[in-house]
Amino acid sequence: MTASKDEVTDLDVVVVGAGFAGIYAVYLLRQLGFSTRALEMGDGVGGTWYWNRYPGARCDVPSLEYSYGFSRDLQLDWEWTEIMPAREEIEEYLNHVVDRFDLRRDIQLGTRVTAATFDEDEARWLVETDHGERFSAPFCVMATGCLSMPMVPDVPGIDSFEGTILQTSMWPRDGVDLSGLRVGMIGTGSSGVQATPEIANEAAHLYVFQRTDTYSFPAYRGMLDPELQRTFKTNPDQFRRMQRDAFFGVAGFGGALGPASIPDRKILETPMEERLALLDTMGFWAARAWADVAVDLEANEAGCELFREMVRRTVQDPDVAEALSPRGYPIGCKRPVFGVDYYESFNRDNVTLVDLRKGAIEAITPTGIRTAQGDYDVDVIIFATGFDAMVGALNRIDIRGRGGQLLREVWGDGARALLGLQSVGFPNLFMVTGPGSPSVLANMVVAIEHHVEWIGDCLTYLRDHGHHTIEPTLAAQDDWVEQVNTVAQGTMFVAPTCNSWYLGDNIPGKPRVFLPYIGGLPRYIEHADGVATAGYEGFVLG
Ligand code: FAD
Ligand code: NAP
Repeated sequence: MTASKDEVTDLDVVVVGAGFAGIYAVYLLRQLGFSTRALEMGDGVGGTWYWNRYPGARCDVPSLEYSYGFSRDLQLDWEWTEIMPAREEIEEYLNHVVDRFDLRRDIQLGTRVTAATFDEDEARWLVETDHGERFSAPFCVMATGCLSMPMVPDVPGIDSFEGTILQTSMWPRDGVDLSGLRVGMIGTGSSGVQATPEIANEAAHLYVFQRTDTYSFPAYRGMLDPELQRTFKTNPDQFRRMQRDAFFGVAGFGGALGPASIPDRKILETPMEERLALLDTMGFWAARAWADVAVDLEANEAGCELFREMVRRTVQDPDVAEALSPRGYPIGCKRPVFGVDYYESFNRDNVTLVDLRKGAIEAITPTGIRTAQGDYDVDVIIFATGFDAMVGALNRIDIRGRGGQLLREVWGDGARALLGLQSVGFPNLFMVTGPGSPSVLANMVVAIEHHVEWIGDCLTYLRDHGHHTIEPTLAAQDDWVEQVNTVAQGTMFVAPTCNSWYLGDNIPGKPRVFLPYIGGLPRYIEHADGVATAGYEGFVLG
């Protein structure tokens, strides 16, 4: 399957990436009669679910909902076991999909795309890989993922460490035996929170290095009720339609109970004793169970105080509880974090919280981590430090469009794209869940399927109407970016005290721009499909 270095392999569409998006793109484009190949840098398919093999890695959307809807037979045959699937089950599922539809022959693993250059005369993309292979195609689909480019902070002395350095997002394929070892884990986002209790069970001692305290809500766990799965299979299409009508792409049929229904009451209009009483029935969820917490900063702070009270009730050592109690930013600003036994882990003798606000990390030494509050000797350092989100993978590729302009330079002040699908100056280059689409603010599989289908329809339209190129107009792109910014205003995502990867705050030097579309999946789908129905309004077809 691998092309020799001298030859150029001609295709109709080059797909980059073989996660949920790339796999479906290969399937659909082949169905539509386009020759295609997915180039994937990993040695296996699955994307997120191939790379993030850390202990405890798991989805927080129910399996029945976090799965493809494009094939009725696939949905009828595949049996999910757990409500919230573990990484292993999702990876197995995606491998099953690839084999079931014989997609492997069009997926080239172990191949990193380094450059993609648009030839304006030929209207073709030349795609180059780290092995020196070249592919030429009129169309290119970037299925490179929103959370696929790991972020590891540049800590001085990292090369001097004599132990083992790991990343949650590049965990060794064969696993790691941490038993009897002293482990230092940096980062308390979703990955760190999920990994903490698992590593605490295995390691001799776990030091958790926390820079920002986290609002971690209890994750739902349980086996999937076979009856529920049978009901789903009676009419999967109906359930899939419900997903596309749901704001976040989660329709609620997946079996997770979640928090009790949110009351209409406002926290600021509720006496303190009644607020506190809710902690007895709802635990941490009581912090969010108010109509005003998501929209009013003062109400939000009242919700935060309930959350902190629950931390105090859960964590035995008052100093540790205080250090774990989030302050200074609202609930709902960062991506929700869900964990099991996260706060309880800090009641264990073999778990120590290192609150970096009392003294930041200064260096990595041969024997461990040096902070301004002292040295911590460890055998293993784990970076659970997140990703260069939304644009990181795209910006690592030399993508050159019209006039040789480089995408990462065009996006130097923040990514701009029409519907998160295409960017001005880069004809025939499509992004799946790109900046300006619901993407990471939705059940991503639903968002991915919609995008891939939109792209498939678009390519079919171009072929049927004799067009060779498609590219957004500047006016349409500017208008969409404006809409993306407008709907974000007033939400906790862009609150003045909010720092998040949604805004690019976790990457030094990254422009502070809120990249996903928060107007909801149904509104987005209606708009994007309307654009297509109107003959790709806002795009120039050449
Ligand atoms: P990915 O799965 O990221 O796949 C992109 C692929 O592109 C990767 O395999 C990568 O190696 C490849 N690639 C990138 N650049 C290149 C290149 N230059 N050359 C070749 N290959 C390249 N979403 C949810 O909706 N619910 C969840 O509960 C949820 N949990 C998550 C848990 C974790 C640990 C993480 C990291 C993310 C989670 N997400 C979740 C988001 C998740 O990324 C998406 O749901 C989905 O898996 C994305 O699929 P994708 O195909 O778009 O991207
Ligand atoms: P993340 O949310 O970005 O968290 C990274 C953590 O590392 C933060 O606590 C951050 O602190 C810390 N950090 C970064 N640089 C640091 C430094 N130099 N020193 C000390 N601490 C540092 O990354 P993630 O946990 O990998 O999650 C990313 C996203 O992936 C999630 O938001 C979610 O979308 C997805 N995900 C989902 C699940 C799930 O449950 N389904 C699980 C894992 C991941 P600051 O907050 O101070 O920056």
